[in-house]
Amino acid sequence: MSRSRPNILITGTPGTGKTTTAELVAQELGFRHINVGEWVREKGLHSGWNQEFECYDLDEDKVVDAMEDVMGDGGNIVDHHGCDFFPERWFDLVVVLQANNTELYDRLQKRGYSQKKVNENVQCEIMMVVMEEASESYRPEIVKPLPNDNTDDLERNVATIAGWVRGMIAGAAA
Ligand code: ADP
Ligand code: MN
Repeated sequence: MSRSRPNILITGTPGTGKTTTAELVAQELGFRHINVGEWVREKGLHSGWNQEFECYDLDEDKVVDAMEDVMGDGGNIVDHHGCDFFPERWFDLVVVLQANNTELYDRLQKRGYSQKKVNENVQCEIMMVVMEEASESYRPEIVKPLPNDNTDDLERNVATIAGWVRGMIAGAAA
């Protein structure tokens, strides 16, 4: 590890619990939580609203430029549903959160997504699109899928991720 503190990517289909998990892990470790979607909206790192997919088309180069300096410091928990455009060197661990169909469906409906967007995302989860993207973009030994169906899972995942990170920090110092 070239940084004193690692950078962690928490990815997964929308609704799998990235933001909830990332906030808790960041709090537990005293790391910075970077919600990429929020940065995109707040800093205008996009090329406009995509009518078809009901989201901003993020400008990948702008996002990478905006994040580069803080990522160099380490100690970041990055939260985003995509992962193939980040530089591979940024991350020491890539967590892929997963949720079962009915749970994910309920969460996305509660979020007020259109039926089309709910269905698309549930389909994306069934097809393991994000898991495949992570596997193609990062070394297999740093890509860790974690089920996140309920609060027990959430609690365990936060402890597991924090444990991995502490292990990496201890390993780097040794
Ligand atoms: P994402 O950032 O991946 O889109 P969120 O963290 O916003 O997902 O979570 C989506 C919804 O699911 C929220 O209402 C959140 O409270 C809920 N949620 C997240 N993780 C869990 C979990 N492990 N068990 C139950 N509900 C969860
Ligand atoms: Mn989120």
